[in-house]
Amino acid sequence: MAVTVKNKEEIEALREGGKRLAFILAEVARAVKPGVSTLDLDNLARKLVEEGGDKSAFLNYKPAGMKRPYPATICVSVNDAIVHGIPNENPLIIKEGDIVSLDMGLNHKGLFTDAAVTVGVGTVDQAGQNLIDATRLALYEGINVIKPGKHIRDISYAIEKYVRPKHLGIVEELCGHGVGYKVHEDPFIPNFCLEEKGEKLKEGMVLALEPMLNEGSRHIKLDADGYTYRTQDGKRSAHFEHTVVVTHDGVEILTQE
Ligand code: MG
Repeated sequence: MAVTVKNKEEIEALREGGKRLAFILAEVARAVKPGVSTLDLDNLARKLVEEGGDKSAFLNYKPAGMKRPYPATICVSVNDAIVHGIPNENPLIIKEGDIVSLDMGLNHKGLFTDAAVTVGVGTVDQAGQNLIDATRLALYEGINVIKPGKHIRDISYAIEKYVRPKHLGIVEELCGHGVGYKVHEDPFIPNFCLEEKGEKLKEGMVLALEPMLNEGSRHIKLDADGYTYRTQDGKRSAHFEHTVVVTHDGVEILTQE
């Protein structure tokens, strides 16, 4: 499928949706404390989405190849869970020192934005904090190269170049994507370099960049719940994501307050 370009009005709606999504994610992130359950976090996210008059882009969404629709408003992935942790089935109680990734998509006026943050609960050990910091900075390394005329591989290269010296595992099976009319659109945006240059970036393209980094090896496994991806070696993982739009001379982050 061809990569779509969004018009001015659509970008305006995405900007408003992105702002709302950033607000909700920040509120949920503030609620992440020892003793809070993942179900509490999902309930808070659902309440905030409803108060804004919008819809969760994830609730009841059935990605290609999945056996059932996703059952929650947000994804909450704790420690060795990389992404797509289900918060409202067998909820977990958050503990001091946990690494908690929150991922959410918002449908505002029929247009979709997608974002994720990882938070450390209370005092996190140095390796865990390094993992969180590296993942957040890898996201910005990718964002900062975006402008018309660059290619998808330039984003992948910037992320990989930043991460490699840190000896963290870069998840390869899951990657960034186009977004806007749907939760997932073309192109794929790997967090490591492929041989092909990929799509050439054009003003109005809307992209979700989302590095997922593992403390140990890059290898992943899928839980019996059909959604939760975990590290194969049981070590921890972090995830940050922004939805951005390619502007006439650079890039604008849509998912910020
Ligand atoms: Mg995404």
